Amino acid sequence: MKSRRSFIQNSFWGAFAATSGQFWERTTKHFEPAADPEAWPVVIATWDNRKATSAAWEVLKNGGRSLDAVEAGARVPEADPNDTSVGYGGFPDRDGNVTLDACIMDEFGNAGSVTFMQDIIHAVSVARRVMEKTPHVIISGEGARRFAIEEGFPVENLLTDKAREAWEKWKLTSQYKPVINIERHDTIGIVAMDAARRIAGACTTSGMAFKMHGRVGDSPVIGAGLFVDNEVGAAACTGLGELVLKTLGSFLVVEEMRKGKHPQKAAEVAIKRIIDKYPEAIKEAQVGFVAIDKKGRYGAYSIHPGFNYAVYQKGVNLMLEAGSHFS
Ligand code: ASP
Repeated sequence: MKSRRSFIQNSFWGAFAATSGQFWERTTKHFEPAADPEAWPVVIATWDNRKATSAAWEVLKNGGRSLDAVEAGARVPEADPNDTSVGYGGFPDRDGNVTLDACIMDEFGNAGSVTFMQDIIHAVSVARRVMEKTPHVIISGEGARRFAIEEGFPVENLLTDKAREAWEKWKLTSQYKPVINIERHDTIGIVAMDAARRIAGACTTSGMAFKMHGRVGDSPVIGAGLFVDNEVGAAACTGLGELVLKTLGSFLVVEEMRKGKHPQKAAEVAIKRIIDKYPEAIKEAQVGFVAIDKKGRYGAYSIHPGFNYAVYQKGVNLMLEAGSHFS
C-alpha cells in the first residue's frame, strides 16, 4: 500500500505539477484544451478495485466506450464471492436477504438504476438495461427482479456460506449500528473517460451489511452515489449512504469541478459539506469520493484515513491511498 505521503506526491501534487499555471482555471463549463493529451483514457474506482479498473482498461485501451468500460469493471466485484459488499457474496440485510443497488450513467446524461433487487448478480447490467430499454431511471425491488428475468438474467442465490455465517454471528447480538467498517466495504463506484473523451460511470453495492429490509443507500441514486456530466467530469463514492444522500455528494463534486476546481479539491468540498452538516454522525462514519475531469485529471478524498482507490492511466494500474479530512 502506498503511503499517504507518496499518494499526495504521486497523485495530487503530480497532477498539480502537470497542470501548473492552469490549476486556477476559469469559471466556465468549457475547459481549455488538456495540458496532458495522454491523460486519457483514464478510469478510477473506489477501494482497491484494481481488477475492476483492469477489466475497464481492456475496453478503453482498444478505443472502446467508457460506458462499456465501467460496466465491465463493476461486474468484476459483483461476481466475486469474496467481496462482501457487492453482488454475489454481499452481506445480507438483517433478515438474511441479499439486496442489491446499482446505477449507471453515460456520456449523454442517460441514466439507469435498480434498487433493492434480489437474486440477480449483475445489478449494474440490469441498471444499464433500465437506461437503454425503458423510459424510466429507477426500477425497484420485485419490479427490478422481474425486469431482469424478462431481460434474460439468470436467477441465482446470492447468499454465500461466508455471508450466511457472518449474518448468523451478527444475529447473536443484532446490534444495529450503522457504522461503516472501512476495512470491509468495497462498494464500487467507477468512472472513466475513453479515448474519444466520452465520460461514464457506474456504482454497485449490496449496501450496508445487516441493514433494515428495504433500505436503499446512495449508490443507486443519481447525484448521490454517482454523477456524470460529459462536459465537466464524473464522481462516485462509497461509505455511509445516508450521509451522501442528504448532501447529494457526487453531484456536488461535479458542480465544483464545473466551477473550475481540480477533482481533488472538488472531492474535498463534498467531504467538508458532510462534516459541516453532520458533525456527530461523521465521528463513526466513513465516506470517500473519487472523481475525474474532462482533462483526465483525477482526485479522491475521504472523511477518515483508510480509503484507497484504483486508477488506471497511461497503461499503469495503481492503488493509491486517498487524502482525508481527519488524520
Ligand atoms: N454507500 C453504500 C451504501 O450506503 C455502502 C458502501 O459504500 O459501503 O449502501
